[in-house]
Amino acid sequence: MSRRISVLVITRKTAGGFFLGILFLILSALVVGRAIPVLAPLHPAMVGKVITVDPGHGGIDPGSHDDGGVLEKDIVLEIAKNVCYLLARARAVPILTRHGDWEMSPIWPEEKTRHRQDLAARIHIAHRTNSDVFVSIHVNKVGSASTRGAIVLYSKNKPESKRLATCIQQALKDVAPFGGQSVLEGDYYVLNAARLPAVIVEVGFISNPDEKQLLLTPTYRQRLAEAIFRGLLAFFEGS
Ligand SMILES: [Zn+2]
Repeated sequence: MSRRISVLVITRKTAGGFFLGILFLILSALVVGRAIPVLAPLHPAMVGKVITVDPGHGGIDPGSHDDGGVLEKDIVLEIAKNVCYLLARARAVPILTRHGDWEMSPIWPEEKTRHRQDLAARIHIAHRTNSDVFVSIHVNKVGSASTRGAIVLYSKNKPESKRLATCIQQALKDVAPFGGQSVLEGDYYVLNAARLPAVIVEVGFISNPDEKQLLLTPTYRQRLAEAIFRGLLAFFEGS
């Protein structure tokens, strides 16, 4: 009697384990089945492209800022990280110059001033990693509160820089309510030092109250990141 009960108990345990195993497999299949389309937005033109994404400023250099604690270095870091995430999903190779709130000057002490060292380090990373393009992300500020919109500046060193700037500006126009302002040749250290297609993306003005409010919104930062990604995709699909 006791033996039969014992057998019965084992059987129930086995059956419970069996059904739990089946349940686990069904749930796994559902999870995997749902995950596959999300994890595979593979873009052939992007596969293996090395893209240096540079959030401007950092550390003791806040970049543009206001009296209320809005700092360019924080806004651009989040946008840059979002761009890198999208690039990684597309099977590109994103290189993020800084992952946190720090400056880059210790990487490149050859330049005389800390500011120059900081800038030189960023473009050095792009060269050292044999990047295909360099995209530095910034936020603008001017004296006039009415000025707004994105501006993309390109390097005169490489003709492809202008096409890259145009692709990104075109994509920004689709998401920014104030549109993209313009594409301009830029006379800036990182652009002049770049030996690869290079652009500075000024995503908007914190000196314009409406645009500042947008730039403080995570969903808007994500939309800007998606636009920069689409601009990069258009650039590589056209090359
Ligand atoms: Zn800046």
